[in-house]
Amino acid sequence: MTKHYDLIAIGGGSGGVSVAERAARYGARCAVVERGRLGGTCVNVGCVPKKVMWFGASIAHTLEDAAHYGFRTGERTFDWSALKASRDAYVKGINDWYHTYLSDSDIDEIVGTARFIDAGTIEVEGRQYSADHIVIASGGAPTVPDTPGAELGITSDGFFEIEQLPPRVAVVGSGYIAVELAGMLNALGSDVTMLLRREHLLRSFDAMLRENLTEEMFGDGIDILVRTQVKQVTREAESSLCIECENGQRLEGFDELIWAIGRYPLTRELNLQAAGVTKDEQGYIPTDKFQQTNIDNVYAIGDVTGRAQLTPVAIAAGRRLADRLFGGREDRHLAYENIATVVFSHPPIGTIGLTESMARDLHGEAVKVYQTRFTAMYNALTERKQKTAMKLVTVGAREKVVGCHVIGPGADEMLQGFAVAIRMGASKQDFDDTVAIHPTSAEELVTMR
Ligand code: FAD
Ligand code: NDP
Repeated sequence: MTKHYDLIAIGGGSGGVSVAERAARYGARCAVVERGRLGGTCVNVGCVPKKVMWFGASIAHTLEDAAHYGFRTGERTFDWSALKASRDAYVKGINDWYHTYLSDSDIDEIVGTARFIDAGTIEVEGRQYSADHIVIASGGAPTVPDTPGAELGITSDGFFEIEQLPPRVAVVGSGYIAVELAGMLNALGSDVTMLLRREHLLRSFDAMLRENLTEEMFGDGIDILVRTQVKQVTREAESSLCIECENGQRLEGFDELIWAIGRYPLTRELNLQAAGVTKDEQGYIPTDKFQQTNIDNVYAIGDVTGRAQLTPVAIAAGRRLADRLFGGREDRHLAYENIATVVFSHPPIGTIGLTESMARDLHGEAVKVYQTRFTAMYNALTERKQKTAMKLVTVGAREKVVGCHVIGPGADEMLQGFAVAIRMGASKQDFDDTVAIHPTSAEELVTMR
C-alpha cells in the first residue's frame, strides 16, 4: 500500500531536512528520503569537515607566528590521523543528532534511493510513497573529467578520506574547493601545485580578491601553474603520480591529485521524465522564484537548481517554501541577490554583491569605488606579512553600496553584519556615519576615503 504524506523531500541534506522540518512545525506530515548519510554534502563531505581542516591549517600558521610574539614552542609535529579521527567523530555526532532531530520533529526517515513513479508518487527500495508536495533536494557530486587516468585522482570526497598527510599534492581547478584545499594542505605541510586551465583563480570574483589571493598563495609557497590543462595521468613505479599536460609539460612525483573542477547535479537516477519534470542540458532543475518546477506541486531547492550552491541558500529556500505551502505566507520566497559568501582560503575572503566590473557593466559612470590595502596589526610583529584588502562598490549620487569585498585575516567573520546593511540598502554615508570599532581590521570598512 502507498503511504501518503503532505510533503516528501528527496535528499536529507541542508535543503531537504530544512523544508521538512519547517513544514512539520506547521503540522504537515513529512518524510525525508536519504540514501547516504543524513546532513548531506555540508555535514559529511563539505562545509563542516572542511572548516575543521581550515581551523587546523590556521593553527599551523599561528604556530609559525608564535615565536614573533615571544613564544618558544619547541619542535613542531603534526598528526594528520589524529585530526582526522577527531573530525570524523565530530561529524558522526552531527549525523546521530540528525536522526534524533527528524524523529523529534515527527518526520519519517525513508532510507534508500528515490525515483519518481509519477508527479505525486516516488518509489524507494520497492515501496511507493505519495505526497501532495514533493521537493527535490538531491544536491550534487564532484565532477571527474574523462581525461585518461583521471581515476587515479581523487575529489573533495576523497580528500576527507586521506589517512596521512600527503607530501606532494596536485590540485586541478580554480574555484572555491581548489583554493580551499590547496591552502589547507599547504599550511599543514604538503607541497602543493595548482593547475589552472585558464589565467586566474576564482575567475568570477572581484579582481582585487583574486589578485591578492594569488599573491598570498604564492607567498605561502604554493606553485600555481596557469593555462595548464591535464592531458593524461599515469602511475609511476614508486606509486607516485605523473601528470602530462596539453602544453607538453610533464609533472612527476605526486602522492595525490585532487580534481576540484566543479560539481554536477544528482538528477540522473530520479526518473524525472515519469513526473514530467524538465532539467537543463547540464542536468540542473530550473524553477521559478517560488522554487516550483515546470510541474505543479513538484519543487526543487539547493544545489540541484544550480543557483548559489551554498548551504544557507538551500536552507533558506527550503524554509521559505514551507512557509508558503503550509504557513499561509503566499509570497514567501528566496531572493538570490546579495547573498554573502566566504571562501575559506588562507587568508579568507568575504564577499557580497556586485564585483566592480559587474557594476561598471550595469551602471557605467555611476559607479564609484573605495578601496584600501594594509597590513593588519596582528601581522605587524610577525614575519609572515599577510595583506588585508577591501573594496566597496557604490552606485549613484547616494552612493548606495552594491558590493563589498574583503580578503584578509578575519574576513570570514566580518561580512555577515555588513550583509544586513547592504541588504537594507545602506549608502557610503551610512558606512561613514557608523562609529568604528578600534583596533580592528573591520573598522577600515567604515573609514574608507
Ligand atoms: P546536499 O547537501 O548535497 O544533499 C543532497 C542529499 O540527497 C545527499 O545526502 C544525497 O545522498 C541525497 N540524494 C541524492 N539523490 C538521492 C536520491 N535519488 N534518493 C535519495 N537521496 C538522494 N557551502 C557553504 O555555504 N559553506 C561552505 O563552507 C561550504 N563548503 C563546502 C565544501 C565542500 C568540499 C563542498 C563539496 C561543498 C561546500 N559547500 C559549502 C556547499 C554545500 O555543501 C552545499 O551547497 C549544500 O550541501 C547543498 O545542500 P543540498 O541540500 O542542496 O544538497
Ligand atoms: P567552482 O564552480 O567554484 O569552480 C570550479 C572551477 O574549476 C571552474 O570555475 C573552472 O574555472 C574550473 N574548471 C572547470 N572544469 C575544468 C577542467 N576540466 N579543468 C580544469 N579546470 C576546470 O566549483 P568547486 O568544485 O570549487 O565548488 C563547487 C561549488 O561548491 C562552489 O561553486 C560553491 O558554490 C560550493 N562551495 C562553497 C564553499 C564555500 O562556501 N566556502 C566551499 C566549497 C564549495 P575556470 O573556468 O576559470 O577554468
